[in-house]
Parts: sequence; structure tokens; C-alpha cells
Amino acid sequence: MARALITDPVDEYIVNELSRNGIIVDYRPGINRDELMSIIKDYEVLVVRSRTKVTREVIDAASRLRVIARAGVGLDNIDVEYARSKGIEVLNAPEGSTQSVAELVIGLMVAAARLVALQDRLVKGGEWPKGKYVGTELFGKVLGVVGFGRIGQRVAELARAIGMKVQAYDILDLRDKATKLGVDFVDFETLIRSSDFITIHVTLTPSARHMIGEREFQMMKDGVIIINTSRGEVIDTKALLKALNDGKVAAVALDVLENEPPKEPWEVELVRHPRVIVTPHIGAETREAQRRIAEILVDKIIKYLRTNNLI
Ligand code: NAD
Repeated sequence: MARALITDPVDEYIVNELSRNGIIVDYRPGINRDELMSIIKDYEVLVVRSRTKVTREVIDAASRLRVIARAGVGLDNIDVEYARSKGIEVLNAPEGSTQSVAELVIGLMVAAARLVALQDRLVKGGEWPKGKYVGTELFGKVLGVVGFGRIGQRVAELARAIGMKVQAYDILDLRDKATKLGVDFVDFETLIRSSDFITIHVTLTPSARHMIGEREFQMMKDGVIIINTSRGEVIDTKALLKALNDGKVAAVALDVLENEPPKEPWEVELVRHPRVIVTPHIGAETREAQRRIAEILVDKIIKYLRTNNLI
């Protein structure tokens, strides 16, 4: 009988459905690294979210492992290449959270443009700052979408419905897709120079690390608003803090940080900045996304185990 170890909090559907298919499931969200290292040898399936780091050492200790399943999108916490070199299948459910992240982006754009979090803090502190901050509308503004994959495209569709002009950049040539969605497909520099709002949706690869840095901030329009729900490492946080303090960037909303939670002094200064909104990596934290991810993932795990005669 196949055994599955789940090491991060997941929708109960995963636990129930794997069990219903005859798999022995050990649900151990919050397990520490030493415990993981000592028991991983007993399992054919490992299910994680982003907390568990599936490194080379974990993979070497996992002598029976056949499947690593990531309940979500990003695989940057898993040494995918090494796992595959050992014949271990790596599965994820990238399409499950697209709508949830895209909706969060729209909410964060409005919140940043109107400084909602700051106004809320001031009112809670006993002030009534009506008339102190004048915001901007989204309607008619240019939105630059960096990374035009699943989430980037969905954000573009929603933003178009609000009346924004949308332009996108991607390392792949996605001109045809862009045209269909009424989006201008432009080069990186054009997007950086001419957008009123910039939202980032690239996958984290070595080339994407710090792709928004000092040089890019200098090129941006004065008063630009930045949204990042992709991965913190895509933006050079120090350069972002400087751009905010210089007044180049008007407001920022981040669902992801270089360190989660923030630990470097400049990160702490950034998240405390009055014009910065931070959410703790909640892009996929909706009931609908978690259930969708669970359904997609269980389906893939069962298919793989059946095809390989493991159940
Ligand atoms: P996707 O793979 O569908 O799209 C990513 C796009 O980025 C692709 O089109 C790819 O060609 C492009 N890209 C990669 N490197 C690039 C570069 N250097 N320059 C320009 N384009 C580049 O992925 P997705 O499902 O749309 O997810 C996008 C991002 O959102 C990922 O980083 C993912 O980890 C993140 N994400 C975050 C949350 C959250 O909770 N905040 C939830 C889901 C996904």
C-alpha cells in the first residue's frame, strides 16, 4: 500500500480523497526538518506547500519516494531537477489559484491608489484625515503587466473591464494572446517607462531575480504604483525603498517579500512605510483556490500512482 506524507497545511479534500483511494495518509503540517529527515524514507508520496523545502538532502533520504506534489504553483522550494534525475515525479496545480491572485491584484491596485490601509490606520488612531490624501482612479491609466502567463493574462482581462489601457511584456512572444485580449505587447523598457501601474507576474528564475532594480525605477514615470504578487526576489527591495523615499514611486502593494517574514532592516522599514501595503503571501488563500488546487492535485497524484501500478 502506498503511503503519503503531507507536511504543510492543505485543504482536507487532499487527505480525504487520498485515503479514499487506498493510500495511507500521515497529515503532519508543521513537522520540523529533523523529523522530516528521519521519517521521509517510509513514503511514496510527499505533499507540500511552500514552507517545506524539498532539498537534495531530503530527496537523498527519501528512498521510496515516487511523487512530490506541490499544492500550489511555484516550485522554487523543490529541487525539481534533482528529484526528476532520481525518477521522482514532481506535480503541481498551477491553474488553481489564478483567479484568486488576479482578484487580489485588482484589490491591491485600488487600495494602493487610494491609500486605503494608511487611511484606515489613521482613523483607527483617532484621526479623520478626509481631504489629506487625494488618490487616483484606475480608469484610463496604463497598466504594465510584467510576465504574461496565467495570472498576468487574467489581471489584464479584469483591468480592461475597469477601463485601464493594458500593456504586457514577457520573455516569450505572446503577441497573439495579447492582441486577443486587447493588450499591447511591448518590450520591457517601453513597459517600464510608460506605465502608471506596474504589476509583476513572472516565474522566479535566475534572470528574473532583481529584474526591477535601481535602473528600472529611474526609468519609471513619476508617481508610478507597483504591485508584486509573484515572488519577492523579483524586486530589489533596497532600490524600491529608495524609489519610495525619493518620491518616484507613489505607492506599493506587496503580497510577497524577499524574506517572508521580513528580516533585513531595509525590509522592515519598507513594510512600515505609510505608502506600502503588505499582505502575508495570501494570493492563493481563498476557499475556492485551495479546493481547486486540492482537486487538481489529487487527480494528478492518483493518475500517476495508477499508471505506475503503485495503487
Ligand atoms: P505562468 O507560468 O503562467 O506565467 C509566468 C510568465 O512569466 C510566463 O509567461 C513566463 O514566460 C514569464 N516569465 C518568466 N521569466 C520572465 C522574465 N524574466 N521576464 C519576463 N517574463 C518572464 O505563472 P502564473 O501562474 O501566472 O504565476 C505567476 C507568478 O505568480 C509566479 O511567480 C508564481 O509563483 C506567483 N504566484 C503567487 C501566488 C501568491 O500567493 N502570491 C499564487 C500563485 C502564483
